[in-house]
Amino acid sequence: MLTLPPFEYHAPTSVEEAVALLGAHPGAKLIAGGTDILPNMKHRLLSPAHLVGLKAVRGLSDMKEEDGCLRLGAMLTIAELAKSPRVRTLFPSLSRAAEQIAGPQLREMGTLGGNLCLDTRCIYFNQTHFWRKALGFCLKKDGTVCHVVKGGTRCVAAASNDTAPVLMTLGATVRLAGPAGGRELPIGELYVADGVANTVLRPDELVVELRLPVPEGRVLAGFQKLRVRASIDFPLLSVALAAKVEADGRVDWLRLAVTALGARPHSLGGLERFAGRRLDEPLIAELGRLAQKQCHPLGNIDVEPQWRRQMLPVLVRRALAEALTVPA
Ligand SMILES: Cc1cc2nc3c(=O)[nH]c(=O)nc-3n(C[C@H](O)[C@H](O)[C@H](O)COP(=O)(O)OP(=O)(O)OC[C@H]3O[C@@H](n4cnc5c(N)ncnc54)[C@H](O)[C@@H]3O)c2cc1C
Ligand code: SF4
Repeated sequence: MLTLPPFEYHAPTSVEEAVALLGAHPGAKLIAGGTDILPNMKHRLLSPAHLVGLKAVRGLSDMKEEDGCLRLGAMLTIAELAKSPRVRTLFPSLSRAAEQIAGPQLREMGTLGGNLCLDTRCIYFNQTHFWRKALGFCLKKDGTVCHVVKGGTRCVAAASNDTAPVLMTLGATVRLAGPAGGRELPIGELYVADGVANTVLRPDELVVELRLPVPEGRVLAGFQKLRVRASIDFPLLSVALAAKVEADGRVDWLRLAVTALGARPHSLGGLERFAGRRLDEPLIAELGRLAQKQCHPLGNIDVEPQWRRQMLPVLVRRALAEALTVPA
């Protein structure tokens, strides 16, 4: 049986108190729903002496529409996101992603903030201490080599959070709280290409809120996920797409983001070329080829990278088909 290492639990009731506790206990970690951090602690992937719980912090579970944005508190559960009629109407691709995260019990516990700050995953890392020791550990913890990229000097464990690529295509911003007050970033800037720590969060900062601009005009959005078992598994590949389409059917802007590749979700570049075009067969084929060119699944997940790469244009096509059928 895997047991938890000892730790002291703190239950702040305000954001300021949570920030102060993080500052007072170097190495402390936040815990929201605990669906990621507790299994990781049981595997001894981390053993923080202090856990700062966010359950009792006031105001983190709000959902409100204000100043042309839908504001989502970091402690909203994944189930709440999936079931919210407002989210479903305004941002159907976010609903679709939320309802495909993990399984029902995990969605009841897991939160939006925890999903955004989910630790990166790797077949050579998310294992017991005994297993990792037998392999000789790796760069992410206790070791000096990477088993995915031979000779690699940077961990490329996979960003596996399904909400991140969706939020990137929807132009979301994330609000952080820290000792100096707060700061707000476009969601894509929350992530860096380092599998050891793939966010720019400082040790005494936390995610408090997401802001999604309410779409103006006709914005179509889709989300598609490849996984072994549709009932529970982490993504082998997730593709999110959003496009603003003019009344005459021509594209104003198009965004595509992919996760479960390397350490950060990847936003496709060069999509301005599609402005003024129609969402037709030649565009779908070109977009699929572009995704294959820019996205390189690695051997960090226990399924053939080559097959995952072959599936990219398939998921792009399905995401677009979904975007065209779900009412915006
Ligand atoms: C079997 C299984 C399947 C899963 N499948 C999926 C899947 O398909 N897709 C997917 O995306 N995820 C999946 N998950 C991961 C996880 O359940 C979800 O990502 C969930 O949303 C994590 O939220 P949490 O509140 O439980 O996070 P926690 O475990 O509480 O925290 C996760 C990390 O985020 C940090 N954190 C939490 N809240 C904040 C905050 N407000 N600010 C800053 N840091 C914070 C914690 O310190 C920790 O490092 C799966 C997990 C399991 C066990
Ligand atoms: S990508 Fe390499 S360094 Fe990172 S967890 Fe996997 S094996 Fe370890």
